[in-house]
Amino acid sequence: MFGTSGVRGAVGTAITADLALSVGRALAADGYERVVCGRDARASGEMLEDAVSVGLRECGADVIRVGVASTPAIARAVEWLKADAGIVITASHNPPEDNGIKLWTDTGQAFGTSRRASISERVQNEAYELAPWDRIGMQSTVEDIVDRHEEALTEAVSLDTPLSVVVDVGNGTGGVTASVLHRLGCHVRTLNGQPDGHFPGRPSEPTEETLETLLSVVKVTDADFGVAHDGDADRMMAVDETGRFVPKDALFSLLAQAVAGDGDRVAAPVDTSLAVDDALAAVGASVIRTPVGDVYIAEAATEPDVVFGGEPSGAWIWPAETLCPDGPLAACKLAEIVSSRGPLSALIDTIDRYPIVRDSLEVADNEAVLERVRETVVAREDDHDTWSVDTLDGVRVDVGDGWFLIRASGTQPLVRLTAEARESKRAEELLETAAGIVSEALESV
Ligand code: MG
Repeated sequence: MFGTSGVRGAVGTAITADLALSVGRALAADGYERVVCGRDARASGEMLEDAVSVGLRECGADVIRVGVASTPAIARAVEWLKADAGIVITASHNPPEDNGIKLWTDTGQAFGTSRRASISERVQNEAYELAPWDRIGMQSTVEDIVDRHEEALTEAVSLDTPLSVVVDVGNGTGGVTASVLHRLGCHVRTLNGQPDGHFPGRPSEPTEETLETLLSVVKVTDADFGVAHDGDADRMMAVDETGRFVPKDALFSLLAQAVAGDGDRVAAPVDTSLAVDDALAAVGASVIRTPVGDVYIAEAATEPDVVFGGEPSGAWIWPAETLCPDGPLAACKLAEIVSSRGPLSALIDTIDRYPIVRDSLEVADNEAVLERVRETVVAREDDHDTWSVDTLDGVRVDVGDGWFLIRASGTQPLVRLTAEARESKRAEELLETAAGIVSEALESV
């Protein structure tokens, strides 16, 4: 039930007050005694937060309601308020009719695999006991976590020179970015600043296509750069001063290079560009690969020497600050980089971009085929001097001058292929190699 992003779906079918009540009960039954609850700006948020809070209290846990705030503010508040877990009612960048529930530990880290499985199991088996009448949990309200987040961000960065920045909040909960940049002396223009769960300004997911207005506002004004968040502001994407959307892998490289030094490590999912490896090698740092999902990045970020983690989707983690991807923090860190070393377009141009090619093959039993692919590739690893095989998430083969990745789609009967090299011809060759391995596996299943 709980995936890497928690549970998410349409309100009224997948996501109901009944489910929220059960999640609250399950969390209390799992031993969490003091739980922070907050939500993004979606219309269904308060109703679901009411339900989850009732479930928690009914099973004896105390609840601290923090109201509408960004996911990073709520995740950080678990530690600030000395609670032992946090619940965010959010569907992140999904359309307005959706909502969801995501759970957080007291270090601001998203619930990992075993914690999620335990909650799912309790919900499915209704494995919770209601507290007796005199042990029902208490509810309190804390109203200043957005202010505390603003304080934390203001302390985390400093700017050499003030900048002009356009902040596209996307009617989500990331308005704190504009407040902090203003406090740091920047001239700030805000787009879609009013939190509104109907997302009237633009779709909630910040992509090159949905940020059309931001791109043109940055271009026609004197702005040094623009930033955009998703609905719950755990993501940040950027636009350079010429109005160009900053490619995700380039943004990754830039943010990582600024914090990583000799011997440091950076966590990245298996499908991240080789350009990130090269950018980090230039400063003496290296990349460790994780399965796809910001939960895995956060897990890797708890390891020693890991100073940064990112998902090219726009989730960036500085473990020294918090293990939650923090979009407003990322915006402030970018301001720091541009302020000391800008302009942004020139910084982006120093980062190489390599051709990534993709394909997908229709395969009915994609998991079985992938298992066979895994066996074949692992068996062949020794025949190829340069091959280094990683089976964390799908099968990724680093071939020295490039890589290919074979993954089973979780939602469709497809096997997805990705290949990257520094030259296009080589990337195409690697994609063919990957397709060949899948065809072979298909014949033998
Ligand atoms: Mg999000």
